[in-house]
Amino acid sequence: MIKRNPCIANIKAGYLFPEIARRRREYAAAHPETAAPEKRIISLGVGNTTEPILPHINRGLTEGARRLGTAEGYSGYTDEGFLELRKGISRVFYRGAFGPEEIFISDGAKCDIGRLQLLFGAGVPVAVQDPSYPVYVDGSVLIGAAGAWAGTGYGGLVYLPCTAENNYFPDLSLLPRDGLFYFCSPNNPTGVAATREQLGALVAAARERGCIIVYDAAYGEYIRDPGLPKSIFEIEGAAACAIEVNSFSKPAGFTGVRLGWTVVPAELKYGGGESLNADWARVCGTIFNGASNIAQYGGLAALEPEGLAEIRQLCDFYLKNAALIRSALGDLGISCVGGDNSPYVWARFPGRKSWDVFAEILEKCQVVTTPGSGFGPAGESFVRFSAFGHRSDVEEACDRLRRLGNR
Ligand code: PLP
Repeated sequence: MIKRNPCIANIKAGYLFPEIARRRREYAAAHPETAAPEKRIISLGVGNTTEPILPHINRGLTEGARRLGTAEGYSGYTDEGFLELRKGISRVFYRGAFGPEEIFISDGAKCDIGRLQLLFGAGVPVAVQDPSYPVYVDGSVLIGAAGAWAGTGYGGLVYLPCTAENNYFPDLSLLPRDGLFYFCSPNNPTGVAATREQLGALVAAARERGCIIVYDAAYGEYIRDPGLPKSIFEIEGAAACAIEVNSFSKPAGFTGVRLGWTVVPAELKYGGGESLNADWARVCGTIFNGASNIAQYGGLAALEPEGLAEIRQLCDFYLKNAALIRSALGDLGISCVGGDNSPYVWARFPGRKSWDVFAEILEKCQVVTTPGSGFGPAGESFVRFSAFGHRSDVEEACDRLRRLGNR
């Protein structure tokens, strides 16, 4: 009989959200009163968008679908993506610093993160912020690159703790040589955005150690502080050591539409001098046939002035939710970070286990959160509140949080 890929058994985070859903179901089954609208369970647990796509961007999608039904407007495979979209992304997000051949349109940041590791294979050491978005670790585990951790002798996985003690920015001296470093800012789950100085230090450390940064800027459009960088490429020298993955999911509500992009600068090289850009084009051409044309028409509309105004409006909506959550927690004396330049609030419960806090909030408030330990060992004793929700649900959840009492 055929054998299972042993790496699959080592995936950890696949367990987090199903486990949350299981506990929610169990609680609902034991508390039939939660079927009543006023007692319903409210989820502030997941990072899925909830609000409708705004009209200008939505017209881009529907108009795009209509065009595909005409002889003049029909298109098939688009490989790296519409040229106009790649040019538009460079203009809007990178001040035109990249040529269209350096921007690859994807079906989402997560999908590209999963594919990117194919550039490096199983032998590369992988570092992650701890806590971090689970796909960095699990994508590495799947390909066997987290071998030292998974017991197969290759590569190795290094967790760089990001805690209250270091202001949620890691000690860069822990960065392995010649490795990959997944770095996300604003971070999921902590909601903390790195400063220009911190990213400067990150780029310097990566270059000195021969590392490549995979910079995840999926929440960049939530940054409201004008002093904070939205892209790693705002830092000098980053094009020689970084790839950036990005997405329309969280700024434009495209979580279900599926559209993102990855910037692989032409000057980025492996230790042997070969071009990562050329290899990425090859990987994409081999196992990816491009993003949906309808989604790309939506992306084009999002980059127009009306679309950019809608992106701002949508992010502002979720940021207001985050501010409500922060303020409700602050009133109780619960210390938290995030929520000001990101849609996540990271709340600290010193001395407690994340799952115990999750259970307490579910039982007392009928509100679902995400236990911080699910994002890495340094997430223990935190829970993440997501601001993705309808306003009325967030207001009701904030009201109920008072039942936790003052800390
Ligand atoms: N990157 C981060 C940090 C995320 O939190 C998420 C989704 O929650 C993604 C990427 C996924 O983005 P996409 O929908 O473009 O695959």
